[in-house]
Parts: sequence; C-alpha cells; structure tokens
Amino acid sequence: MRRREHGTRDRHSISDHRETWLFGEPDRSRRRRDAVSVALCYPSSYSLGMSNLGFQTVLGLLLAEPDVVCERAFHEHGSPAAGRSLETGTPLSEFDVVAFSVSFEDDFRNLVAVLDAGGIPLRASERSDDDPLIVMGGVCAYLNAEPVAAFMDAVLVGEGEALVAPLIEKVRDSRSLPRAERLRLLASLDGAYVPSLYDVERNADGGIVGFRADGNAPLPVRAATGPSRMAASVVLSDGAFFSDMLLLETSRGCARGCRFCAAGSVLTPRVWRPAEEVLGAMEAAASQTSRVGLVTAALLDHPEATEILEGALRLGVELNISSLRADAITAEVARLLCACGVRTVTVAPETGAEDLRRAIGKPMSDAALLSAVRTMADGGLRTLKLYFMVGLPGERDRDIEAIPELARAVRSCFVEGRTGARVSVSVSAFVPKPRTPFQWLPMADEGYIRRRMSFLRKAFVGRPRMEFSGTGAREARREGVLARGGRELSEAIRLAAVEGVPWKAALRRSGVDADAIIGRERADGEVFPWEVVDVGPPREKLLASLKAGLRLLDERT
Ligand code: SF4
Repeated sequence: MRRREHGTRDRHSISDHRETWLFGEPDRSRRRRDAVSVALCYPSSYSLGMSNLGFQTVLGLLLAEPDVVCERAFHEHGSPAAGRSLETGTPLSEFDVVAFSVSFEDDFRNLVAVLDAGGIPLRASERSDDDPLIVMGGVCAYLNAEPVAAFMDAVLVGEGEALVAPLIEKVRDSRSLPRAERLRLLASLDGAYVPSLYDVERNADGGIVGFRADGNAPLPVRAATGPSRMAASVVLSDGAFFSDMLLLETSRGCARGCRFCAAGSVLTPRVWRPAEEVLGAMEAAASQTSRVGLVTAALLDHPEATEILEGALRLGVELNISSLRADAITAEVARLLCACGVRTVTVAPETGAEDLRRAIGKPMSDAALLSAVRTMADGGLRTLKLYFMVGLPGERDRDIEAIPELARAVRSCFVEGRTGARVSVSVSAFVPKPRTPFQWLPMADEGYIRRRMSFLRKAFVGRPRMEFSGTGAREARREGVLARGGRELSEAIRLAAVEGVPWKAALRRSGVDADAIIGRERADGEVFPWEVVDVGPPREKLLASLKAGLRLLDERT
C-alpha cells in the first residue's frame, strides 16, 4: 500500500494513490457556515475520472470558487466507499450539490448507481427540499442528456467558466426556498436545462412532435457561452490511467466537419490556445511532472503546432498526444514528436475505401496516408494505431475488405525493416451521434456488426507485429441506444443500474424498442429528443451536409 502524500485519507477513501496538487492543495478548512458543498462525481473509476480533462477542469473551477467546498466521488462498483466522497467519506446525500461530469453514454447506468449508493432518491420528482441538487455537465450534456433527464434536477450545457460561478450563486441564494422554486431559479441561468419544467409532446405513434416549457423556462435551452480558459489538470495522480500526466487542451473544436463526428459539429468555432500559454502551463508544472498529454481534436491544425512541439522539447517534457491528422504530418513534425518522447501515434482513416472516406467527410487518400506513415517511420515513431469503423452508411463488402488491405500496406511501410515497430488496428461500430449530419441515419444491426467484426478479426490473424481489437456488437448497440434515446430509457437505465438487470432485458421490461431508437432512417423533419437544447449548429446546415454525403455515396461506382 502506497503512502498518500497529499490530501486526507480515512477508512472511506476509495483511492490509495499519490496525488500532487498543481496549484496548491485545496484549503478545506475555509469551510464557512454558508459555503456550498459540492460532490463532483465522475461516473466511472477513479483511474478514468482522474484522466478526464473535463472532470479536472470543472474540479479546478469549483475549487477556485471562494465559498465552495468541493470533494470528489467516483463509481467503484461494490466498494464500501460507493456513494461517498473520496476526501472525507461523506455520504453524497449530505452535500448541497452532486454534480456529474459525463463524457460517455455508457456511464449513464453508473451515474444512477452512484445516486442509489449515495442514498439519494433517484428521480428528480421524488426528491424533497432536504435532498441535494443533482446536476450534470460534460460532453453528454451537450449531445443528449434525455436518457437521464428524469434523474437530473438540472443539466448544464456550455462552457464551464460561464456556468459554475452563476450556479453556485443561485444555489447559495436559494437555500431557504422550496425545491420547486429553486429549480425555477436554476432554469433562469444561461445554459441550465431543468428537465422537470419541460414536457415532450408525441403523436399517436409515439414520435416526438415538439416540447412544451413550463412558465418562463426557455425553449429551446441555449448553451452558455463566454470566454473560456485553457483546460488543464489541477491534480496529478499515480493512480490515473494517464499516471502523473499533466493534461492540457491546445484547442477546442474542429473545423474539419467529418459527418459522423460530434466534436466537429458541436464544438465550433475552434479556439486555439496560444503556444505561449500552453508552454507556460508546462513550465509551471515542470517541478511536479515532466509528462504532458496534449488534448485536442487536431493538434497539427494548430497554427503554432511546431512552436508547441519545439517548446516542449526545450522544456524536456515527455509528450503524449491523442490523435493526429495523417495528412498534416511532416518530417519535421515526426522528428519533433519522436524527440519529445512520443512513441505512439494514432491516426483514424475510419474506413478502408477512399470514396467512402470522402462521403463521410474525411477525404484522405490512401497515398497521403501511406506517405504520412513512411514519414512517421523515418522519424522513429514506434507504434502506430489505426482507427476504423464498420457499419458506415452505404458500406459494401469491398469497403470492409479494404480495411485489412490498407492495414497491410500501412504495416509494410511502418514495420518492415524496423525492430520493435508495430501497428495496432482498432475497429468500432459507427453510431449516428446526435447533432451530427449523420444523425438522421440508422445504425447497423447487431448481426451485421458481429459478422463484420468476425471477418476482420480473422483477416488479422497471424500478422506479425500487428494487433487487432474490435468493439462488441452488443456494446456498440447499447451505446447507440443510450446516445440517441429519450426519456423513455430512464426505467431501463434504473433497472440495469440498481437491480442489475441485463441491458436487453431491461429494455424489454420497460417496453423500449431499441430499433425505434437506432434502427430506422429519420424523416428530414423528425424532431429528435435532444432538440430541447440548442447547442448549434443549425439543423439546416447538418441536413445539407447529410445530403451532400448521400450524393457522394450515390456516385460511388
Ligand atoms: S473526426 Fe477528427 S478531424 Fe474529423 S471532425 Fe472529428 S475531430 Fe475533426
């Protein structure tokens, strides 16, 4: 058992890891009688939560508030510490606010399990004036929080900087009010969606035709905007998935406009963090860590990407990067990456066929990819990860067969003649994500995904220095349902989270037809559950991009 150098630890702690606070350990003694207590929860493990930049950013924002006492909580299944805070073991039911940061739809079930373990009435409608306010932010709040709307007092959508301080002020000033009035006050905040104030209107077939807002609640709710700071880790941990690594956001959003990608749709316009600011943060943390992860959708689109890499090299940091656009890799970039200790680079061709790649909005040629691979090999990079998807719209047998062919060509360029070099191939199933141009399209069924994965798995058997991993068909479909569903999913989520009912049985028992959610193409005018919140871009723009993609699919020979 390792010694914990910072922070308190008691019998309730769920973590036993060394933590290093980058800007000083929070002073918990400052608690005043009227301070707002917040439990910030990541609905998955400590290891993943501490490696999540969104979670770390909100933690930093909350700790910076003068009258907030913030502790953390995680989902640790079956642990005696479940439903309690990490720092003091306080039951979550004793906090003023329980705030979830949710990045993955698959964590919706964990979120409900955390509420249950914390002794908090699960549904917002069951809570009394004495219960904490349950709020949620993060990527899933942006994309579609409707599957967990029944469990939320408020969903916070937008920049954390524009949301946290106003939220705390409202919570503090409304303490003496009845819960219903507090929720109305919350609804007046920019970016706050209070689900209980909205009804979903449906036609006789159950299709959504619109939403009705109670009183003065805004419809649609719009994301809170405002200047945002560079997101950065506030605490390092040797128990994080990215152990002791400073995470820095070098840009937000992506202008490439791939038709399947929510980051490219929702997080626009792009914001670049100046190289000076990025390097300043590395320097400030240099005495505590030399490991830095750059979090960005497209590092090499950054106008100062070279300055950032050169600066990192000067500072002697060991870099980790999320993924790169292969067509932007130059010999100089490869050399710098290697010199900064980057051993693994991830590129995402998405599919094996060039014309399908063009139709999904990622027009990268095989020649450009292979040239980039040669450049990376010459630069000395050791591991190359390739991401592909199956179940893309218009996909044909030959598109699937093209995946191992392209991977083989990549392998020849990257591995042959180089000791220790390897290629790993990761394949997931396409999910038509909310707020993307492809949101109108159906998802492939489970049998199709399973057959494709099975074909690919066999195609990669026996290839030296090449690994294959593929998402399970069942898990992929569950992700699709959770990503695209509406309020009808709340009982299935509760059954799975609290009673341990297997997902498909939970859907059956709660009368949910998964195919109605993900198995059918949508009419242009169909209303989606997530449209009660408007985070942009306009639906006309998405629809135009969809039609352009479908035209390209039609033109394929
Ligand atoms: S897939 Fe990558 S390049 Fe395309 S829009 Fe998304 S983040 Fe940008």
